[in-house]
Amino acid sequence: MSDMRHFDVIVIGGGPGGYVAAIRAAQLGMSTACVDAFIGKDGKPALGGTCLNIGCIPSKAMLDSSRQFHNLQHSFKDHGISASNARIDVGVMVGRKDKIVKQFTGGISSLFKANKVTHLPGFGTLQANRVVTVKDHDGNETAYSATNVILAAGSVPIELPFAKFDGEHVVDNAGALDFDKVPKRLGVIGAGVIGLELGSVWRRLGSEVTVLEALPDFLAAADADIAKVAAREFKKQGLDIRLGAKVSAVAVKRNVVHVTYSDGKEEHTAQFDKLLVAVGRRPAIKGLLADDCGVQLTERGQIAVDEHGHTGVDGVWAVGDCVRGPMLAHKASEEGIAVAELIAGLPGHVNLDTVPWVIYTEPEIAWVGKTEAQLKDEGVEYRVGTFPFAAIGRAVAMNETAGMVKVIADAETDRVLGVHMCGPNVSELIAEAVVTMEFHGAAEDLARIVHAHPTLSEAVHEAALAVDKRAIHKAN
Ligand code: NAD
Repeated sequence: MSDMRHFDVIVIGGGPGGYVAAIRAAQLGMSTACVDAFIGKDGKPALGGTCLNIGCIPSKAMLDSSRQFHNLQHSFKDHGISASNARIDVGVMVGRKDKIVKQFTGGISSLFKANKVTHLPGFGTLQANRVVTVKDHDGNETAYSATNVILAAGSVPIELPFAKFDGEHVVDNAGALDFDKVPKRLGVIGAGVIGLELGSVWRRLGSEVTVLEALPDFLAAADADIAKVAAREFKKQGLDIRLGAKVSAVAVKRNVVHVTYSDGKEEHTAQFDKLLVAVGRRPAIKGLLADDCGVQLTERGQIAVDEHGHTGVDGVWAVGDCVRGPMLAHKASEEGIAVAELIAGLPGHVNLDTVPWVIYTEPEIAWVGKTEAQLKDEGVEYRVGTFPFAAIGRAVAMNETAGMVKVIADAETDRVLGVHMCGPNVSELIAEAVVTMEFHGAAEDLARIVHAHPTLSEAVHEAALAVDKRAIHKAN
């Protein structure tokens, strides 16, 4: 084994946690390799993980395409613009998405070359003593040694035992990005982030979309006021969301997916042409850890780490979806950077309390920090200010008036504890709230900062003013 090639850092996983960790480690002067098993649609190894290949980036491409089509049919007329015979070519739309994916996965290969990160295509397994074996796509296995190993294996969709993915009728997020035509009836199990985003894509393209959600509350993780506004808007768009729906059986017969579910009172059946199952994800640890590597798992099947991403095994770290915390690309990337910096002897830390959430529906949903319900549970006294986009000049000019901004501040200190938004471009507006919270800012700070007019950001300004009941453009 002594002729094993050695690296200062080997990263297992080339998604937003792993590739970013690898680039940062290389920037810091360490010899770095990144192992990744993903094979792209062209049959070649593709870096970028779920995010770039079958997640964030392709879904945003499809969300944008479907939004253009929907607006052309529904809202352009309000602007005095009309077009007849609007049609979509799903093949072109999916092809555009594939091109964007290829541009970005290829971009990471170029960044690896520029930073001298060695890409090791294949499946990586952590053995004892920081040896990493890589089984390439021809089945050959090579062992490498490292001073530090960063596990960034990501996550995989949870499969329901009675609704196995078949890639044809019962699909996961990847399958729902690649339908060759608009399904007439699309069923979705799970009204979470993926269910709502991909349900929106196909609804806008013309599918009848039914979303079956097991929980009685809609978007239970979001602030209740925001969830209420969002539910109203989705209903208007024709998304049929059925809450408290427990699916018990799924069967495919003659090209039709038959779903049986109960609403707690009685059993129902529904028929779909395609069924997307989006009931959450679990850490992708299958085959990742040899029995004697020493890394422990939590009871939830995540890799156990301390607040710095250290596994407790000398020189072994883990980041992203395979550890605790939200399963979000940006959280994984920041953890990757922090761990690379810690390995280099620098300070590195990620504040999980200020990780922003974004759901890219229309209207978009975004939040950071605590919800009102969480603060009530914790017995924290707070004040709330809200402001509707309907009273924001820019939103009215854009014809996108649904939604609002809600700022929650500590009743005594005025420190911002949470900001919740639903509306146009809130995926961008949330950044200001994150900065404020990172700097321990107060609602008064947000209220005193000059916001450009006319912009959507004025809704954040006014909501902050409303915390102190002094919003200008609404009655307090
Ligand atoms: P999720 O956790 O967001 O939602 C899953 C939903 O399915 C929940 O509402 C849950 O109650 C419901 N559910 C669970 N079991 C069910 C059952 N048997 N029947 C009916 N409903 C059931 O999970 P997701 O949408 O699959 O997304 C997975 C992860 O990917 C999320 O953790 C999310 O962080 C991440 N993601 C993020 C983004 C984004 O940031 N925009 C986009 C896509 C995915």
